[in-house]
Amino acid sequence: MKTAKREEIILLLKDIGYRPRTFDLEILPQELDYEGEYRPVGKLHLKITVVRTDVGFHMRIGGKGKVRFVCSRCLDEYVEDFSFSDENILRRGGHTGGVSLSDEDVDSVYIEKDEIDLLPLIREVFISNLPVKPVCDPSCKGLCPVCGVKLEDGHSHDPVQPLKLGAFLREAFKEGGKR
Ligand SMILES: [Zn+2]
Ligand SMILES: [Zn+2]
Repeated sequence: MKTAKREEIILLLKDIGYRPRTFDLEILPQELDYEGEYRPVGKLHLKITVVRTDVGFHMRIGGKGKVRFVCSRCLDEYVEDFSFSDENILRRGGHTGGVSLSDEDVDSVYIEKDEIDLLPLIREVFISNLPVKPVCDPSCKGLCPVCGVKLEDGHSHDPVQPLKLGAFLREAFKEGGKR
């Protein structure tokens, strides 16, 4: 694998045989080059497993790293360990259709040469694994619809009652009268 120029990470497929091979690599957030809402904060660790098949190659991309999310309930930012993985079939030649049933749930990528740039594939797997509605904590209660602060246990608003307000004002005047 050539990793000197990190605008692409080329995997030379001609070296891949029928025995699966696994590559470990690390990429930086800027190399992932993803400008979406949830981004990695630090290196992503990747494990790429490739094996030659009858139609081309089978590739599994697995990765993990810390990602900054925004909670969909309370809107707090939080950083969490994030794992992502997916499988691809790398097919030789153009798109000729006729995908067999066993390939239904595996994406096909068409390759012209016996090499492939891993970065776009890694980016795609990262994005497709991102949660739609991340939560900072499963018990997060979100924001108070009345005052907008993050809801904690015991946070409540009594409905405004004229009687109570009146009592409050009487108290306030009494206090004032003492001074
Ligand atoms: Zn939250
Ligand atoms: Zn409130």
